[in-house]
Amino acid sequence: MGKLIVRKVGVLGAGVMGAQIAAHLVNVRVPVILFDLPAREGPPSGIARRAIDGLSRLSPPPLAAPGLASYIEAANYEEDLGRLAECDLVIEAIAERMDWKLDLYRRIGPHLRADSIIASNTSGLSIATIGDALPEAMRSRFCGVHFFNPPRYMTLVELIPTPRTDASLLDALETFLVTTVGKGVVRARDTPNFIANRYGIFSMIATMENAERFGLGFDVVDDLTGTRLARAKSATFRTADVVGLDTMAHVIRTMAETLPSDPWHRYFRSPDWLQGLIERGALGQKTRAGIFSKPGKEILVLDRASGQYVASTGAASDAVKAILKISSAADRFAALRASDDPQARFLWAIQRDLFHYCAVHLASVADNARDVDLALRWGFGWSAGPFETWQAAGWQQIARWINEDIAAGVAMSDAPLPAWVTEPGRTGVHTEAGSFSALTGSVVARSPLPVYRRQAFPPLVSGEQAAPRGETVFENAGVRLWTGIEATGGDIAVLSFRTKMNIVDATVLEGIAQARALAESDFRGMVIWQTGDHFSLGADLGSISALVEAGKFDDIDAMIARFQQTSLLLRDAQVPVVAALRGMALGGGCEFALHASRIVAALETGIGLVETGVGLIPGGGGCKELALRAAGEAAATRSASGAAWLFDFIRPRFESVALATTAKSAEDARSLGLLRAADVVITNPHELLHVACNVARGLADSGWRPPLPPQPFAVMGANGIATLQAHLVNLRDGGLISAHDHTVGLALAQALCGGPVPEGSLVDERWMLDLERRLFVDLLRNPLTLARIKHTLATGKPLRN
Ligand code: NAD
Repeated sequence: MGKLIVRKVGVLGAGVMGAQIAAHLVNVRVPVILFDLPAREGPPSGIARRAIDGLSRLSPPPLAAPGLASYIEAANYEEDLGRLAECDLVIEAIAERMDWKLDLYRRIGPHLRADSIIASNTSGLSIATIGDALPEAMRSRFCGVHFFNPPRYMTLVELIPTPRTDASLLDALETFLVTTVGKGVVRARDTPNFIANRYGIFSMIATMENAERFGLGFDVVDDLTGTRLARAKSATFRTADVVGLDTMAHVIRTMAETLPSDPWHRYFRSPDWLQGLIERGALGQKTRAGIFSKPGKEILVLDRASGQYVASTGAASDAVKAILKISSAADRFAALRASDDPQARFLWAIQRDLFHYCAVHLASVADNARDVDLALRWGFGWSAGPFETWQAAGWQQIARWINEDIAAGVAMSDAPLPAWVTEPGRTGVHTEAGSFSALTGSVVARSPLPVYRRQAFPPLVSGEQAAPRGETVFENAGVRLWTGIEATGGDIAVLSFRTKMNIVDATVLEGIAQARALAESDFRGMVIWQTGDHFSLGADLGSISALVEAGKFDDIDAMIARFQQTSLLLRDAQVPVVAALRGMALGGGCEFALHASRIVAALETGIGLVETGVGLIPGGGGCKELALRAAGEAAATRSASGAAWLFDFIRPRFESVALATTAKSAEDARSLGLLRAADVVITNPHELLHVACNVARGLADSGWRPPLPPQPFAVMGANGIATLQAHLVNLRDGGLISAHDHTVGLALAQALCGGPVPEGSLVDERWMLDLERRLFVDLLRNPLTLARIKHTLATGKPLRN
């Protein structure tokens, strides 16, 4: 099978997963028909319809922009099975019951198009058994496709073939899942619970068992097993509450039923306290009480011994906190193991048991160790998987300690470590050539599928080959301009900032100017792309606040003028400049992006002009640019009755900046007017550099010229300011905003409306830039703004004053 074209997807089951998978598919512009059982009352597709309507109430939001829900159609199995013929891909996500799934597959079989693909989202049932319910001819077109909850945000999708699945179809589906759906795909075997849940749930079981052995409360365990262990913030027991304790118990029961000869089988049972909670209906977040509960202001936690809720105050001991801060993994593990502190011994024990379990089952569960590490990172939000953690801590030393604990009878199981673990010369499972496969005894390189060539910087596990560095063209303290990898070819230069969170300081401004000159003379395009998770958190508030405190307002004015010039340098470059956004693109970072020739943004990007949060307004050309865009849109929407009122285009921009709104996705940013129609949104952030380089190259090929200098444009002037001010006064007098919010809002109104000139006056770009810069510097003279800046610098949070 060659390329897979997915025009429409049928999703069967409008429950938690089905509805959210549908939402994510429309996020990536794939229309969906969402099926469920026919409703007993009301419209026949009522169940699916209610699920679609309910998407806007879920948090975090499954939909990337309002309005996308209308691309999901509601359907039911009674009337609409014929519509399966419209679907190139059908994903089944009905309740986890084999008999129900088999019934449904038998029912849909006759309606499937012969060239469609069918996939089940089961969490752990046998894929081969489910597939056998399909007509013979369709069985080669069936596999498992296991999304994680919530599917928009969790990276992992496990792809599980049956022995009959067509290999080329699986490649095509993987390509679609990676590029279009934006997921991290791990191929799994058809074993109970596949990879991530098999190991992830075992890790929870080992945590419960060892918490009991060491007498630690759930609150203490969560403080130990979340971010301190570089795992998800919800740690162990809050994760269980979120998943649902009934679901947890169900998964544990499935392990007990399907893995009878697992050496750890005796632990595959829900502890009494868990059964007790389920019996009294405390199922976790969905019933507002579980292991934790919050009846009032205080968080309570279940006390295992009494079965009562008590105040949740337990936390990591100072000694253990200190150990967990040791940077060398080998020293950290040695200290945990040597300590008498029960918390330290617990932390060693849960990792020992997990490593032990992972090693014993590697041959049967996963193709190689890299797949296990990536599955746990992407499916459970850990920053490192078990094998890479073990390897970083010193492979053989950890193996000796595991063996000692097995011999002493303190490990959870006495199953011997497989021989490959301690074979001479082994220093781990990940090497530059690839990762160890216990099944074949060989090292497996990364997937050769062409889709992965689009990832210049793939997510690497520790111990793998290093990321490419490219060749430096120029660097200073603030930036590095580089080239020389496959994505850049010889013609595109990449500009990456080197400051913390890529904030913009004087060295970055200086570096951009030099980089632009070099890009113009030696390259055909420049891409601004960052190696970290975020594009830029904006201007360097630290140096601004130092200048304010020293009273150097002329220096600040000069610095902001420099900022504005830099925005224009990006816009007016003689080669295309593409801003490649992911993570956060805020404040000054957003202003640079607004001035780039094109934006290429990953869907999950937070974009916003958030300066009002620190008592300022956009000063790097952001206000000018918004006013210019508003004027352009107003002029373009002239109706028969005359020009549209410019104010209608200013007001939404004013509101979003005044509220320091951050677009929650690139599509959301489009609706806020921060992305233009020609800007590109992609789904997989690892493909960002590849696409951005190609966009720059495409623009260069099309004979790039920077935009002609903007002509003078119309502003709202004094009338606009007065209208916005009236609004601000109402909010202030109603107690909804502070007096300082009013001051900042008024400055913003002036900057967006072009100052107190008559409505409709034509102003030029320089006028607008000077105005926003003057207003910006004036706000810095206000002590309340300085207080906001200092508070944000100290706490990372906004101050409401
Ligand atoms: P859910 O209970 O929220 O939804 C199940 C859906 O199945 C409902 O819409 C229901 O109307 C429908 N249904 C029930 N009985 C049916 C029948 N006999 N025939 C047809 N449809 C029927 O379940 P969910 O959490 O969305 O799980 C769906 C699938 O996804 C399961 O296989 C589950 O294991 C898997 N899964 C769940 C999660 C998770 O975290 N919830 C994560 C990954 C995979």
